Amino acid sequence: MKFPEKIRKYCPKCKTYTIHKVKIETSRKLRRALSKGQRRAERRSKGHGNHGRYSKRPISNWKMHSKTTKKYDLIITCSECNKSRHMSLGRLKTLEIVKT
Ligand SMILES: [Zn+2]
Repeated sequence: MKFPEKIRKYCPKCKTYTIHKVKIETSRKLRRALSKGQRRAERRSKGHGNHGRYSKRPISNWKMHSKTTKKYDLIITCSECNKSRHMSLGRLKTLEIVKT
Protein backbone atom coordinates (compact mmCIF):
# COMPACT_ATOMS: atom_id res chain seq x y z
CA MET A 1 0.00 0.00 0.00
CA LYS A 2 1.17 3.51 -0.80
CA PHE A 3 0.44 6.22 1.72
CA PRO A 4 0.87 10.00 1.20
CA GLU A 5 3.53 11.87 3.17
CA LYS A 6 1.14 14.61 4.29
CA ILE A 7 -2.52 14.14 5.12
CA ARG A 8 -5.32 16.44 6.19
CA LYS A 9 -6.71 15.25 9.53
CA TYR A 10 -8.62 16.53 12.51
CA CYS A 11 -6.35 17.76 15.32
CA PRO A 12 -7.96 17.51 18.78
CA LYS A 13 -5.75 20.29 20.16
CA CYS A 14 -6.25 22.82 17.36
CA LYS A 15 -9.87 21.65 17.02
CA THR A 16 -9.72 22.03 13.24
CA TYR A 17 -8.50 20.09 10.23
CA THR A 18 -4.77 20.64 9.71
CA ILE A 19 -1.99 19.08 7.66
CA HIS A 20 -0.28 16.18 9.41
CA LYS A 21 3.12 14.64 8.69
CA VAL A 22 3.18 10.85 8.50
CA LYS A 23 5.88 8.53 9.83
CA ILE A 24 5.90 4.72 10.13
CA GLU A 25 6.10 3.51 13.73
CA THR A 26 9.06 1.19 14.36
CA SER A 27 9.68 -1.03 17.36
CA ARG A 28 11.21 0.74 20.33
CA LYS A 29 14.59 -0.18 21.80
CA LEU A 30 14.63 -2.31 24.92
CA ARG A 31 15.81 -0.73 28.15
CA ARG A 32 18.38 -3.48 28.62
CA ALA A 33 19.94 -5.72 26.03
CA LEU A 34 18.41 -8.81 27.68
CA SER A 35 15.38 -9.00 29.92
CA LYS A 36 15.33 -10.83 33.26
CA GLY A 37 13.66 -13.90 31.73
CA GLN A 38 16.07 -13.99 28.82
CA ARG A 39 19.06 -13.87 31.18
CA ARG A 40 17.58 -16.67 33.32
CA ALA A 41 16.95 -18.84 30.26
CA GLU A 42 20.48 -18.26 29.05
CA ARG A 43 21.95 -19.29 32.43
CA ARG A 44 19.80 -22.41 32.76
CA SER A 45 20.41 -23.65 29.25
CA LYS A 46 24.19 -23.72 29.71
CA GLY A 47 25.88 -27.12 29.74
CA HIS A 48 24.64 -30.50 28.55
CA GLY A 49 21.46 -32.56 28.66
CA ASN A 50 17.82 -31.72 29.11
CA HIS A 51 17.06 -28.23 30.40
CA GLY A 52 13.40 -28.71 31.23
CA ARG A 53 11.19 -25.98 29.86
CA TYR A 54 14.24 -24.19 28.51
CA SER A 55 14.87 -27.08 26.12
CA LYS A 56 11.95 -25.96 23.98
CA ARG A 57 12.47 -23.28 21.41
CA PRO A 58 10.53 -20.06 22.06
CA ILE A 59 7.00 -20.00 20.67
CA SER A 60 7.75 -17.00 18.48
CA ASN A 61 10.12 -19.13 16.41
CA TRP A 62 7.89 -22.01 15.40
CA LYS A 63 4.24 -21.19 16.07
CA MET A 64 3.84 -17.66 14.85
CA HIS A 65 4.54 -18.03 11.14
CA SER A 66 0.95 -18.54 10.11
CA LYS A 67 0.41 -14.91 9.15
CA THR A 68 1.88 -13.40 6.00
CA THR A 69 0.97 -9.81 6.79
CA LYS A 70 2.05 -7.30 9.41
CA LYS A 71 0.10 -4.76 11.43
CA TYR A 72 1.27 -1.24 10.65
CA ASP A 73 1.05 1.82 12.84
CA LEU A 74 1.66 5.41 11.87
CA ILE A 75 2.72 8.45 13.86
CA ILE A 76 0.99 11.57 12.64
CA THR A 77 2.29 14.97 13.71
CA CYS A 78 0.28 18.16 13.46
CA SER A 79 2.16 20.83 11.51
CA GLU A 80 0.72 23.67 13.60
CA CYS A 81 0.99 22.55 17.24
CA ASN A 82 3.57 19.74 16.76
CA LYS A 83 1.41 17.30 18.74
CA SER A 84 1.72 13.73 17.55
CA ARG A 85 -0.54 10.76 17.87
CA HIS A 86 -1.02 7.26 16.57
CA MET A 87 -3.03 5.93 13.71
CA SER A 88 -3.25 2.23 13.01
CA LEU A 89 -3.78 0.87 9.52
CA GLY A 90 -4.39 -2.80 10.22
CA ARG A 91 -2.84 -5.70 8.35
CA LEU A 92 -0.84 -4.97 5.21
CA LYS A 93 1.80 -6.83 3.23
CA THR A 94 3.92 -3.76 2.46
CA LEU A 95 3.63 -0.08 3.26
CA GLU A 96 5.57 2.77 1.76
CA ILE A 97 5.22 6.50 2.23
CA VAL A 98 5.05 8.39 -1.05
CA LYS A 99 6.00 12.03 -1.50
CA THR A 100 3.20 14.09 -2.97
ZN1 LIG B 1 -2.68 20.73 16.03
